[in-house]
Amino acid sequence: MAHIAFIGLGNMGGPMAANLVKAGHKVTAFDLVAASRDQAKADGAAIGESSVGSVRGADVVVTMLPAGKHVLSVWGEVIPAMAKGTLIIDCSTIDVESAKQAHVLAAKHGMLSVDAPVSGGTGGAKGATLTFMCGGDDKSFAAAKPVLENMGKKIVHCGGAGAGQAAKICNNMILGISMIGVGEAFALAEKLGLSHQALFDVASTSSGQCWALTSYCPVPGPVPTSPANNGYKPGFASNLMVKDLTLAQDAANAAGAVTPLGKHAQEIYKAFDAAGNGGVDFSGIIQHVRSLAGK
Ligand code: NAD
Repeated sequence: MAHIAFIGLGNMGGPMAANLVKAGHKVTAFDLVAASRDQAKADGAAIGESSVGSVRGADVVVTMLPAGKHVLSVWGEVIPAMAKGTLIIDCSTIDVESAKQAHVLAAKHGMLSVDAPVSGGTGGAKGATLTFMCGGDDKSFAAAKPVLENMGKKIVHCGGAGAGQAAKICNNMILGISMIGVGEAFALAEKLGLSHQALFDVASTSSGQCWALTSYCPVPGPVPTSPANNGYKPGFASNLMVKDLTLAQDAANAAGAVTPLGKHAQEIYKAFDAAGNGGVDFSGIIQHVRSLAGK
């Protein structure tokens, strides 16, 4: 079993660190927020006095932080305190450019490094069923895989440095676009007098089939576990969808790709967020779509 330092114990990182403890690893955890540190302690982790304090003696370091600037700042602090050859894994969703910079920093100090953003949300973090999308060299990925297997059920090596982040933002751009499309179809069906269930029964077994419809249906009824049945409580909050669609647009601009629907989806989610719905599940975008009909 390994000695793992875990930095960033929020909605995702807290339960992920707890799963590493459950798997039998020695975990030393740190977060800026005292309540998160207390929870990690209750889950069986040792608590470091700081980020740097938590990485001393660790074989593996995992970070789960809000954005690229936090990752670069924490990696910049902890890497000089790590033993040469230590593996550092970032599971946050961040911009591709910062992810690449983080790998360069790690390589400069002789560390193994992997960007490994996740899909599966807080439910996947608690249940250890996350999908990890990994970027890094073969040696780093081989070292990271057994650690990630304690927190997820699917671990995909997407390519070199930053490839995990690239896969994550491309996937979430599909999700943002398709959820708006499904919402529009239900809003149109309502105007045409077609029941939600009838549209679902047809589209879920026809060419309109997609995850946003069959696993996360934005109207109550057809998929009882979807947030629509629970007042659109997240789940995956709309402000996180704005974040991911913005990362996709930034990456597209930097790479010279043109993604007109991704751009439009970003604008639509931004408007929903600006109207005070940032904490509403992203499938609640159907409410915004319906509201456009009155304008
Ligand atoms: P969160 O805000 O709940 O947790 C982030 C934690 O990082 C906080 O507890 C914060 O105190 C801590 N932190 C910030 N700066 C720090 C520092 N310098 N040192 C130590 N701790 C620090 O966010 P989350 O929901 O856990 O998400 C984490 C990442 O995972 C984000 O990049 C997010 O986009 C991504 N993600 C989230 C979800 C989800 O459903 N919540 C799903 C997939 C991916």
